[in-house]
Amino acid sequence: MERKTIRVSKNAARSGHRFRMANMVSIICPNCGFRRLIDTSRFTVSDTFIPGQNGYESADYYQKCSRCNEEIGIKKLK
Ligand SMILES: [Zn+2]
Repeated sequence: MERKTIRVSKNAARSGHRFRMANMVSIICPNCGFRRLIDTSRFTVSDTFIPGQNGYESADYYQKCSRCNEEIGIKKLK
């Protein structure tokens, strides 16, 4: 049997994880509904566009969805 060693820093798991949970939200893929397209600050307001949709070309970021492989456009509104 293969022996696997997973090392988790206690400090990173504690402070890092809680920080993520408290301050980040996940944007849902508008194409397939994948819940973890990208993480943003919860204070950021974003709009998402699928290719061909009105506004897609003026998006600020493009993130490839790991489920449907569509290049989703993300526009930061605030
Ligand atoms: Zn998707």
